[in-house]
Amino acid sequence: MNIDNIQGTRTPFYLYDTDLLRTTLAALQAELHHHPNYVVHYAVKANANPCILREIKAAGLGIDCVSGGEIRTVLDAGFRPEQIVFAGVGKADWEIQLGLDHGIFAFNVESVPELEVISHLAQQSKKTANICLRINPNVGAHTHELISTGRAEDKFGIDMRDMADVIRLCHTLPHLRLRGLHFHIGSQILDMDDFVQLAERINELQAELARQGVAVEVINVGGGLGIDYDQPNENPVPDFRSFFNAYAQHLHLLPGQELHFELGRAIVGQCGSLLTRVLYVKEGHEQRFVIVDAGMTELIRPALYQAQHKIENITQTQNLRLTDWQFLDADTALYDVVGPICESSDVFARDITLPLTRRGDLLAIRSAGAYGETMASCYNCRPLPATYTIEELSSTLDDEA
Ligand SMILES: *Cc1c(COP(=O)(O)O)cnc(C)c1O
Repeated sequence: MNIDNIQGTRTPFYLYDTDLLRTTLAALQAELHHHPNYVVHYAVKANANPCILREIKAAGLGIDCVSGGEIRTVLDAGFRPEQIVFAGVGKADWEIQLGLDHGIFAFNVESVPELEVISHLAQQSKKTANICLRINPNVGAHTHELISTGRAEDKFGIDMRDMADVIRLCHTLPHLRLRGLHFHIGSQILDMDDFVQLAERINELQAELARQGVAVEVINVGGGLGIDYDQPNENPVPDFRSFFNAYAQHLHLLPGQELHFELGRAIVGQCGSLLTRVLYVKEGHEQRFVIVDAGMTELIRPALYQAQHKIENITQTQNLRLTDWQFLDADTALYDVVGPICESSDVFARDITLPLTRRGDLLAIRSAGAYGETMASCYNCRPLPATYTIEELSSTLDDEA
């Protein structure tokens, strides 16, 4: 990252590396090449920035939405309705109607009352609703408590013990077409065994359905593949191969069955950084605080999930001509990096080593491409963060030159 391009830009802002996004998408497509019956939907809640959606569309991925607003956003961005799947435990009537009006690929249905409402609305508007049943497989994932979604105690999906009954109900309710089964066990999962467990659970469920003479055309295993937050420079592209292989080796698909995925974080997580400037360095008695101009309003993951993002002082690293991993030998200190918001949880990192840091230094909070900008808020009456691609900032400079 060339600091000259960004030094003068007003902070805080998100900076997207579209080259890295393209590289990531190319790696994903290279893996998909080996699996012609695999379909990937991009989970747009991870990042809905137009510059991101352009690349996702160019790569030909489908879309996973979790709200009517997201459906509108991706239709406006030029995605086709038959590329869209729509999940969520609390779909409002207007959101269902929107999906029906456009004829989306599938509603991922999370409860019996939702199924009844979809059937009713479809009947009213003389449409057929494509349905996948979101089954809660009761598989725990090795991830943070607050981003685990596939255990019996989580609010998501239909309990697997009720699956057969609900499928029978599907066949009796009018205007429904059952396309498949949907699962999603959580996010930021790095232990491939979690996906193997899900695959094995799906095998059991499919065997049970086969005994009842039921076969579906689509199995959708959701997303959840994690990224390397500790070492974004060393591992900018996630391990798609191991992820797909976990399913290829363990999930028994029926002849002609498609396997769908919904990846968010793994696709966009590493391509975004939050750029922020140091306002003050406050020497406390216990701690030394770097107070920056970005806060939980721009990036809430540390406050919400105790997430840890790598933080680089790009001003000092550049001044000292140090590479990322050399700076530990230079003059450094331990800092807490905190935001300006009036909340004790507004902390980006505790006790991290940075080169000696001064007011005005630019920090990059890395791996912020997923669940960063999309979760930004106006708390404390703050404006939403600006966003740029690296190319945009370079071309602004060229224009000025
Ligand atoms: C959030 C979400 C995803 C994407 O999760 P990632 O961990 O970002 O891959 C996929 N499917 C559903 C239903 C989701 O809610």
